[in-house]
Amino acid sequence: MSQNYSIAYSLFPVSPEAHLFRVRCCIEQPDPDGQRLSMANWIPGSYMIRDFARNVVWLNATDGKQAPVTVEKLDKASWQAAPCEGPLYIEYEVYAWDLSVRGAHLDTGHGYFNGTSVFVAVDGQRDRPCRIDIAPPAGDAYANWRIATTLPRLDAGLYRFGSYQARDYDELIDHPVEMGEFDLASFEVAGTPHDIAITGKHRADLPRLCRDLEKICTTHVAMFDELPKMERYLFLVMAVGEGYGGLEHRSSTSLLCSRNDLPLPAQETINDNYRNFLGLCSHEYFHLWNIKRIKPAVFMPYDLSRETPTRQLWAFEGITSYYDELALVRSGLIGTESYLQLLGQTATRVWRGSGRFKQSVAESSFDAWSKFYKQDESAPNNIVSYYTKGALIALALDLTLRQSTDDAKSLDDLMRRLWQDYGKPGVGVPEGEIERLAAEIADADLSDFFARYVHGTGDPPLQRLLEHVGIDFCLRPARNADDKGGSAPAETTEQQPPVWLGARVANDSIGARLAQVFDNSPAQKAGLSAGDVIIACDNIKVNKNNLETLLADYPPGSTVTVHAFRRDELFETRLQLEPAPADTVYLALKARSTTRQSLARERWLGQNRDSQSVKQAVNH
Ligand code: ZN
Repeated sequence: MSQNYSIAYSLFPVSPEAHLFRVRCCIEQPDPDGQRLSMANWIPGSYMIRDFARNVVWLNATDGKQAPVTVEKLDKASWQAAPCEGPLYIEYEVYAWDLSVRGAHLDTGHGYFNGTSVFVAVDGQRDRPCRIDIAPPAGDAYANWRIATTLPRLDAGLYRFGSYQARDYDELIDHPVEMGEFDLASFEVAGTPHDIAITGKHRADLPRLCRDLEKICTTHVAMFDELPKMERYLFLVMAVGEGYGGLEHRSSTSLLCSRNDLPLPAQETINDNYRNFLGLCSHEYFHLWNIKRIKPAVFMPYDLSRETPTRQLWAFEGITSYYDELALVRSGLIGTESYLQLLGQTATRVWRGSGRFKQSVAESSFDAWSKFYKQDESAPNNIVSYYTKGALIALALDLTLRQSTDDAKSLDDLMRRLWQDYGKPGVGVPEGEIERLAAEIADADLSDFFARYVHGTGDPPLQRLLEHVGIDFCLRPARNADDKGGSAPAETTEQQPPVWLGARVANDSIGARLAQVFDNSPAQKAGLSAGDVIIACDNIKVNKNNLETLLADYPPGSTVTVHAFRRDELFETRLQLEPAPADTVYLALKARSTTRQSLARERWLGQNRDSQSVKQAVNH
């Protein structure tokens, strides 16, 4: 059958115990001057060089007569086969022991891979269709394994091993594959089947999950007016003890979560963990439009051999982060109060980092490859997140559009416009275009807005903008180290204002280890650094658990003698405690909103489109 496909891959988990996939690639018409092959150095959606070729254990080649063909390694990720008559067979093994949404993982319990981890690209033929045969591991132990992927099926049954196809290399690497004994449930949105496959030990209430996800997906589809054309959509979930991550694809998403994030049968409420999980699903689903189809021009096509910087990640990740939570309240899954708590927590994360005064979100986007994705202990002081500040800019832009058009237009209009003009026809978005479209929709000059908050380091003026929807933006000191913000201060008047050390503290066997020390904090002024282990305060032994309570007994302004280790050297310093700064955000509904404010709020948070109609709408 391979005559129809000039490139055919076959993939086989040759040794689950040793975490090895065996891959064979048949190239009908190799380059007569010698075929070049290469592996991706990064995976779209995760902006860091990962050198996937490092997991290729061995690779060799044979020609149509089964004679060996010499292969020379050209650089870390590419090979050159000697000239030969076709077909050329490349065979290799890939070590798969990375349990993340970005890599490949194989053991006797399940297998998972992204195409970027396992498929070599045939240089010069990346635009050609290919066939992919996927087989289960050998042996009775694997008789019940199934496969979950949105790779288009050739002759494989639904969720069965067999033959799949991809129209080009770009598609080949955009459908992750899970294999094993997963649980499967389905629902429908816009006439398109949506499936969820869960791998790993869990007790999740699948019907509940389907009901809730359907509401979220329907809300997103209603906003964009349509679901991009696809045969089906798939949520691939790996449930583990502790873990969190998601990666978007053209018709699926890979998610890693804690089993505690999933709803249990008879659990009726949405607790914080489940709310986070729904937010993650919502985020990746929104990417179906924003980044998978509405894309920065520099990603068309992707150059997977090297970094591809763009100043626009704040829009693709920030706007997506804004809508992931907004869809929870718009779909009716959470109430206004719960939504405002989430927004307050996002704002708190931004307000607590002084790095936001040193790096703009445009710069953070551009340097994502070497800074955001390679964070160290200095991150809060030196960089800003294009996710969290990007989400606040999206909120500020939404409110600006609403305010300047008397609530006739909003960020929803901007997203629909981007979908119609760029995403749907497959045109890349050039730098500056989102800014230009926003100004057109606002019918106002927004250059100052973007210069200050996107290209500059200004805080978006949420205090002023939230007035429009009758919400107060408030700041208060953190209550304790676990205070994530988002809630009003406790009613009871505390005896004294909380004191501030200005460091994030972790456990250590001999004391309290400083994981991060914030700029201009008492800890920094005392000469303490990340990595230092405090063992005593005023000669009393401390650890992570008692450090905070011990310091809380001192009034702000007091000086404490600190003993600490840097590496293996003991030192003593004097630490002057300060009152905790007001860096914790909460949003409160105004006690008396005007009718206009209430209406604007309803338009913003309510189901602004008839979501019910989406269920019946035919996918087009
Ligand atoms: Zn994202």
